[in-house]
Amino acid sequence: MTLCLTNSCRKLLGHTGQHDMYPSVPWAFMTVKDKDKLAKAGFATPRGGAKGAYQNHVLRSNRVIVPFERLSQAPVASYQDGYVIRIYPDQYFDAPGQIKPTFSQAGAPQVGTNAFVLYRTHDQLASFPPPADWNVRSLSLNGIQVNERVSGAIDSGEYVLRIAAHGNNAARSDGPPQGIFAPEYANENTNYLAKCVLAWLTSHTVDSPYVATQAQHLETILQDAGIFEPHEWEAMGLLRGGLTCCPLCMKHIRYSELHDQVSFADESSLLNASEQVVNATRSTVVNLFHMAPLTYSDVEHTPQNVAWGHAICNTKLGQRKCYPLSELIADGSKVGIVDQEGLISTFGWISESLEMIRSPAGAVWIRIVEDHLSAEDQSSLIEFLENHRDE
Ligand SMILES: [Zn+2]
Ligand SMILES: [Zn+2]
Repeated sequence: MTLCLTNSCRKLLGHTGQHDMYPSVPWAFMTVKDKDKLAKAGFATPRGGAKGAYQNHVLRSNRVIVPFERLSQAPVASYQDGYVIRIYPDQYFDAPGQIKPTFSQAGAPQVGTNAFVLYRTHDQLASFPPPADWNVRSLSLNGIQVNERVSGAIDSGEYVLRIAAHGNNAARSDGPPQGIFAPEYANENTNYLAKCVLAWLTSHTVDSPYVATQAQHLETILQDAGIFEPHEWEAMGLLRGGLTCCPLCMKHIRYSELHDQVSFADESSLLNASEQVVNATRSTVVNLFHMAPLTYSDVEHTPQNVAWGHAICNTKLGQRKCYPLSELIADGSKVGIVDQEGLISTFGWISESLEMIRSPAGAVWIRIVEDHLSAEDQSSLIEFLENHRDE
């Protein structure tokens, strides 16, 4: 199997139709619901949704919103589809109409150019009202106002309203969505290759309706990009014995789990963590999983960082890195239990960061609270506990 590669085209040599760097033909053999799940993985999911002026149901390769307080850590050069800085009124104004001096310094965000002010509450609107010469943000294409952020559309205006109802004050919403949640960004090529990895993993789930030969075009594309690494995927826990795995619990993933809804019994454990799982009750058993969490400081939706994993495992992991067993064995330390005679029986490996322990039989321990007591507090705590041990 050979790729065309004319103009970086990833269709097969001798194909019909136009050249295409991002063809959908490699997963054309899949069912509609599998294709839908892949498409969804390529979309930026709305975090906080409309409240933050975020855009829904668009590809990750779109303009991002960088919160002003995250600007220093954001990899702005990686946002190839542009970015806009969100500033809250109390970050921008010292008093009504009085802009903070930092915003007149060279290189500071320019409201109306590369930044906008977002009003979230009636209080903010009353305390720091938009100056008289400000306009609400709008979009135009060739001089005509448009509602959608279409290619070539130009922004104007300085502020956006996303104000919730409060007391007698009605909700107010004005100005179009400004961009996607920055940690979900991926450029078109990265997003496409991540999709190829996920499609390949879909075809290698237990009881999948597909055969390996159908995934050959996907393999060829990943090989061409230098990222077809089944051995590495085994080491990372995405794959075990050639079949797709959840990287956290290392259980094999059944094809049907990609589409089955979480059971009623599982729902409660997801709901306890509703901060992490949006629309938890509508979650499928298996979802998009990132080995390293999505953050403001890096672009983490990459083909090297995606997998299919259990919704519940995603929730348990939270905003932590999923350490593969191979990494704990290589870089971590053995951990064991010391009995009363001082004999040690080891049962697993702990990460260098002391965040995660794994046993080779599949058990996982995750640190949920970090050390935070002073040496003094620790010794008085231990003294207290020892004094009360025999009571
Ligand atoms: Zn071609
Ligand atoms: Zn799992």
